[in-house]
Amino acid sequence: MAREKWCCDSMQGASAHRRGRAIFVFADPPSEEGGEVRFWLASRALDYDMIREDPPPVIPPYLALTPSTRQSIAFCPWCGSRLSRFYRRRYTQLLDSELDTEFGSPGSPGSD
Ligand SMILES: [Zn+2]
Repeated sequence: MAREKWCCDSMQGASAHRRGRAIFVFADPPSEEGGEVRFWLASRALDYDMIREDPPPVIPPYLALTPSTRQSIAFCPWCGSRLSRFYRRRYTQLLDSELDTEFGSPGSPGSD
């Protein structure tokens, strides 16, 4: 595997927080049909292990809490690098298939 290289320290830090109760970044690989790599800015309000519990934790309706959410991004939120360009040959360092359970597998319905 090629040595990791990051567009900025903030992006590296946000990638390292994928298991935290935090704002973080990750990527989905291109589809087998030759789609694009998708980059995500995400946040998690509960501990990672708690979200993965089966059954999932019951959240009282009055809290109106979204346990985790994500938004597709094209540019680094911190330095502005175009992600598809900077990570064209390095996107694997942002992949995390374990997050499929939480956010849905790439291309699955409702994964946006
Ligand atoms: Zn950056």
